[in-house]
Amino acid sequence: MVLMSPVENRLISAASNGDDHQEPGIRPRSLSELIGQDHVKENLSILIEAAKQRSESLDHVLFYGPPGLGKTTLAHILSNEMGVQIRVTAGPAIERAGDLAAILTNLKAGDVLFIDEIHRLGKAVEEVLYPAMEDFALDIVIGKGPSAKSIRLNLPHFTVIGATTRPAMVSAPLRARFGAVYRLEYYDQTAIQAIVKRAAGLLQVEANDKGIAEIARRARGTPRVALRLLRRVRDFAQVRAEGFIDHEASTSALDLLKVDFLGLDDLDRRVLLTIIEKYSGGPVGLNTIGASISEEPDTIMDVVEPYLLQLGFLSRTPQGRVATERAYSHLGLPYQAKTQPGLFDRENG
Ligand code: ADP
Repeated sequence: MVLMSPVENRLISAASNGDDHQEPGIRPRSLSELIGQDHVKENLSILIEAAKQRSESLDHVLFYGPPGLGKTTLAHILSNEMGVQIRVTAGPAIERAGDLAAILTNLKAGDVLFIDEIHRLGKAVEEVLYPAMEDFALDIVIGKGPSAKSIRLNLPHFTVIGATTRPAMVSAPLRARFGAVYRLEYYDQTAIQAIVKRAAGLLQVEANDKGIAEIARRARGTPRVALRLLRRVRDFAQVRAEGFIDHEASTSALDLLKVDFLGLDDLDRRVLLTIIEKYSGGPVGLNTIGASISEEPDTIMDVVEPYLLQLGFLSRTPQGRVATERAYSHLGLPYQAKTQPGLFDRENG
C-alpha cells in the first residue's frame, strides 16, 4: 500500500499528481490555443519569429511562478512552434555532471532541453551547464591528478528552457545565462473561465456558463486546479445531477469537497488557524507552522503561501508570517490589532 500525505492527496494542490495526463488533448499545443498570460505570449511570439527569421535556435528561456500556471505547457509549445524535439528533465533528476553531459551530447541542433525545478540543480552540474549554454561547449576532464587533460567538445546550438517556483534560489550565474526570463501570473477569472469552458468542450461535459463560472471562481487563478475541480464536479454531476454542470451542481460539488468560495481548502484554513489560534496571529516562522500541522515547510511555501499572499490573507515580515485582518474576517474570527507583535521564531523570515 502506498501512503499519500494529505498534501499529495489535496484536491486544490497546484502540484501535479499525474492526473493531468489522463486526457492529454487538453494541454494547449500552440501559442494561439493558450488562454491568458497575454504579456508572456506576445513576448514569446516575437522571440520565436525572430529566431525563425534568422534560422537560429531559440534563446534560453526561464519561466518562474507558482506551480500549475503553465510553465511546462509553454516549454512544449515553444518546441512545437519551433518544430524541434523537446527533451524533458528536472533539477533533482540530474544527479551528476556526467548525467548532464550524456543528455547534452544527445541533443540535435535547435532541440529544447526543458529543466523543471531548475533551482534544484547541484553546483557541479550547474558548472557543466554554464559553458554549454554560453559557448555550446562541454569541457571534459580525462584522467586524474597532474596528468589530467581537459578537452573541449562542441555541442549543437540548443535551447534550455528552465522552470522554477523559486526564482530566488536560482544562482546568479545560471540566471544570467537566460536571454529571456518571464514571470507567470495567476490567471484572472475571465481567463480561467475560458480555460474551463475549453476543457469541458474537449471532455464532452455538458455545462452552462454559471456552472463553469463557479468552478473558475474557486480555482485560485490556477489552470491545473481548475481542470482538477472540473473533473471532480463532472463526477458529481454524473452521479447526482444527470450529467449536467449548472450553478447548483458546481456549488454542491465544491462545497462537498470543502473548497470554499475563494478556493481555500482544509490545508489553507489549517495554516491560517494555526497562525491565528496558536500564535496569536503571528509573526511565526514557516518551519514552526509546518511542525504544528505536520506538513513540509516547502509545501506550505510553494503551494499554500503564494495564494494566501495574493489574497492579502498573509503578510511576510522579517520576523515571520502574520495573518491579516482579511484572513480573520474570512474565517469569521474577531480581529484585534496588535500593538506589540509576539515573536515566536525568526527562521525562514
Ligand atoms: P507548471 O509547469 O507551471 O506547473 P503546467 O504547464 O504543467 O504547469 O500546467 C498545468 C495544467 O494546466 C496542464 O494540464 C495544462 O494543460 C493546463 N494549463 C496550463 N496553462 C494553461 C492555459 N493557459 N490554458 C489552458 N490550459 C492550461
